[in-house]
Amino acid sequence: MTVDQLAVLCRRLADDSDAVRTSPEIRGLAESIVARVRSGVTMAELAHDFDVLEERLLRAGHAAGLSPVRSYERLLNAGDGHRVLEVLACPGGTCARIEAPGAELAPCLVHRQPMVAMRLRS
Ligand SMILES: [Zn+2]
Repeated sequence: MTVDQLAVLCRRLADDSDAVRTSPEIRGLAESIVARVRSGVTMAELAHDFDVLEERLLRAGHAAGLSPVRSYERLLNAGDGHRVLEVLACPGGTCARIEAPGAELAPCLVHRQPMVAMRLRS
């Protein structure tokens, strides 16, 4: 699912120590992908680039690649037993990244806009 891959990419871009920031080869491809997302290219057109990006991440030793598993782990563990009723979501609709409220507010680096509070329906 490319939307999930974009969400993982968005989160990884917010992390200075992540390979998508520190490896020039991976970073170049990641930045070209997000530039095209901003210019309105469809997810289907980006599927191949996401595959290449994932391949580079895996080859560089990042076992999780663009798998969304790691992406949601932190959010699910974020609470103290209370249900999360409001999350921070990416603006723009194409990126599915969500963060727990109160988390350090790294902006969405795909759309270069701040994360926005969104109420979850229960
Ligand atoms: Zn985003």
